Amino acid sequence: RYVILGNHHDAWVFGALDPSSGTACLLEIARVFKVLVDQHGWKPRRSIVFCSWGAEEYGLIGSTEWVEENMKSLSSKAVVYLNVDISVQGNYVFRAKSSPTLYQVIYDVAKKIPDPNGGSLYDIWLKRNPMKEESLPYIGNLGSGSDYAPFMVTAGISSLDIRYTYDSATNLSSYPLYHSMYETSI
Ligand SMILES: [Zn+2]
Repeated sequence: RYVILGNHHDAWVFGALDPSSGTACLLEIARVFKVLVDQHGWKPRRSIVFCSWGAEEYGLIGSTEWVEENMKSLSSKAVVYLNVDISVQGNYVFRAKSSPTLYQVIYDVAKKIPDPNGGSLYDIWLKRNPMKEESLPYIGNLGSGSDYAPFMVTAGISSLDIRYTYDSATNLSSYPLYHSMYETSI
């Protein structure tokens, strides 16, 4: 069974946040998992597949081709696809979009992670972006905006996309330098 993590590496221009903030997280997870395996004897219970996609901005081309080519094995063996793209675009609250089958595990993990604003990720998320109908943090639906789309839509694999974001009360449609020539880390 496969647990698949992915992020694209192409950018419209410099791409400091989109996709490089996500790439930094993906590479750090790979580095830490290697340390756990080599130095702490950790053995994952599932095969973990790290993916770095090309041509996401041109139409999810790298991930779509890969999913189509490996459709049989993915649709029978993939447990979940975990996407990061822009992993940090603000310092206000955690944001998740996900298949409903993953809501509970996202909540469970968020309770274990400290939030930079104090308390757990779950506590700040519930306070700053709750669901309207019930007392739970808000989780959105996945659309077609990143490499999770071929996994979820074409192969039927439960997927999620997570990031840390700004306060939506600012009414910004995105962070100001998104996809611009000024999106640098310098
Ligand atoms: Zn992106």
